[in-house]
Amino acid sequence: MSVLGVAMSLLDGKALSKKILASLALQVENFKNQYGRVPGLTVILVGEDPASAVYVRSKHKSCEKIGMKSEVLRFSDQITEDQLIEKIASLNQDAKVDGILVQLPLPEHIDTESVLAQVRYEKDVDGFHPFNSGRLLRGQDAMVPCTPLGVMELLAAHQIAVDGKDAVVIGKSNIVGKPMAALLMNAGATVSVCHSKTKDLATYCRHADLIVSAAGRPNLLTEDMVKDGAVVIDVGINRLDSGILVGDVQFDEVSKKCSWITPVPGGVGPMTIAMLLKNTLKAAQQFESLPKP
Ligand code: NAP
Repeated sequence: MSVLGVAMSLLDGKALSKKILASLALQVENFKNQYGRVPGLTVILVGEDPASAVYVRSKHKSCEKIGMKSEVLRFSDQITEDQLIEKIASLNQDAKVDGILVQLPLPEHIDTESVLAQVRYEKDVDGFHPFNSGRLLRGQDAMVPCTPLGVMELLAAHQIAVDGKDAVVIGKSNIVGKPMAALLMNAGATVSVCHSKTKDLATYCRHADLIVSAAGRPNLLTEDMVKDGAVVIDVGINRLDSGILVGDVQFDEVSKKCSWITPVPGGVGPMTIAMLLKNTLKAAQQFESLPKP
């Protein structure tokens, strides 16, 4: 219970994502009946990064669970940028591939931005192509990056209004912070974007009705930085030396002051995968709605 007597509630991304996956499974079935094929996601995995391998396996399993086709193309970390771009070009032309995801990070000799810009924007289910970033910023329909999209779904599913609220986003990456800020701004929030060079993070946070932390720093957001009754979304995933997974938020203390808070794990993480599958289905539906020769 917060000081103002507001009971804290958990934003349970695991439970919500299960519901979303069940609904997507039905939509995939309908798609199959209508078009005689299932939507397909192709994931490109370069190198042997263990965390990336775990993420890719989990995406693959979720696709299979809802009846979507999933293919993982594995390449050695010796692949050149040109070879990778050539592969993407062939997937761009393949009508059976609705979504293309390049698992990050890529090896250092490859320019990530150049590679991401090669993915056909209609198949860019991660929403990282500059065309999609631009459309999102302009408030137009776009493929939206999965993590911030998942945050918006969590808020909407719990009827947490964003319109007119003061929001702080901690982190300004292209993957989370910037698209998160754009989505909140498009939804009517007044958004401050903080980062490692922000002079006084605590002052921004203390005024916020809604805080989204995506810094990747354990214990960054402490109880004294949070206004009573605030909504706190913890995007951070940090593995401590002990092996325990934590977010950016000092959960035990901060949760006493919040109206709503996401746990880590079980908050934003499962929503991210659900949104990837949602984007893939959207790409497939948009492809089928195009006039055929
Ligand atoms: P990133 O590219 O490393 O960006 C981190 C951002 O946080 C940067 O903008 C950085 O500022 C800012 N930052 C770092 N330390 C800070 C501090 N002490 N105070 C204020 N800002 C600080 O990371 P990312 O890819 O956006 O991911 C962020 C976190 O979310 C990571 O923990 C990642 O694992 C997690 N994540 C989770 C999911 C999920 O599904 N739950 C998905 C994606 C990412 P500068 O720009 O000034 O350096």
